[in-house]
Amino acid sequence: MSDSTREPSAPVRMHHPSPLAAEVVRAEGELSPLVSHLSSSAAAAATSEPSTSSRHSIEAERSYAAVQRSEAQEDADELRNFRMLALERQRATGGFAGGGAQAGSLQAAGGAFEPFVGSRVGSPIPDKNGLGWPGKGTLARLNATPDEREAREKKLADAVKVLLECIGEDPERDGLIKTPERYAKALLWMTKGYEERLPDVIGNAIFAEDHEEMVIVRDIDIFSLCEHHMVPFAGKVSIGYIPNRFVLGLSKLARIAETFSRRLQVQERLTKQIATAIDEAIRPMGVAVVIEATHQCMTMRGVQKPGAATITSSMLGAFRRSDKTRAEFMSLIRSSQR
Ligand SMILES: [Zn+2]
Repeated sequence: MSDSTREPSAPVRMHHPSPLAAEVVRAEGELSPLVSHLSSSAAAAATSEPSTSSRHSIEAERSYAAVQRSEAQEDADELRNFRMLALERQRATGGFAGGGAQAGSLQAAGGAFEPFVGSRVGSPIPDKNGLGWPGKGTLARLNATPDEREAREKKLADAVKVLLECIGEDPERDGLIKTPERYAKALLWMTKGYEERLPDVIGNAIFAEDHEEMVIVRDIDIFSLCEHHMVPFAGKVSIGYIPNRFVLGLSKLARIAETFSRRLQVQERLTKQIATAIDEAIRPMGVAVVIEATHQCMTMRGVQKPGAATITSSMLGAFRRSDKTRAEFMSLIRSSQR
């Protein structure tokens, strides 16, 4: 599947966004956590119920997991194709003139699971379900027909009407009459990251380069919704990586941050997802992601600590292994912060 001619802005294909193909592939042959979890709850239910329905739900979960696996595999293949194309472009433009043996090793660099993938060895994945994995309803949202989209928006607006009633308002009064519709649209927009796959976000912006110095983009604005309260948190993310034959178009770092922040999130997972997605896309020597954010669920309710910032970091590969590399990254991003 050579998608080299596809515009980066092309509409998403019939896929859910799951960049974490490597994890999925690793999980192949064993039950995914989701499946085993649901199997055990189904097994518990089976003690009190006829087994047909639980067996049915196990089957449904298995096929759901299988779809996830095969689509994640496609994502991984697509990213690998982007890397291969980058190498071909570089060769075609004479980037590696006279390097026959080198070209051979570069061929390997485009592959999916070749050895020199420094950062992948230590990639810690504590929460497989959270890491870029779609929610149960994500696929249906992504693949919805225009009619289904309209029905979804209507359902959401009706729910907002209920919210308004429950807080003691009158959904029919002038100021609020359009609010349910507006909020439905806004919420879908604020969670549009569910409709974006990593290969679509990255497009063909992977380039083969001999650059092996740290690349940093700092202070990228992010806006997300905390999944515990569905209230905004906002802040800045700084991303660094050390290329390993491949670099990403700089704007793509911000796009990746955008994709994962436009979902329901916890800051820790968002940080890790951004790091893992970059790791997955270009197999660098290491990735570092630091997010500093303010959570409205903290600042405008409950504990009310205005201005309190939460800082999270995710360090992969060289950034995890080497204190010096990590310190260099931290000092470079701090020099920008006022
Ligand atoms: Zn919260």
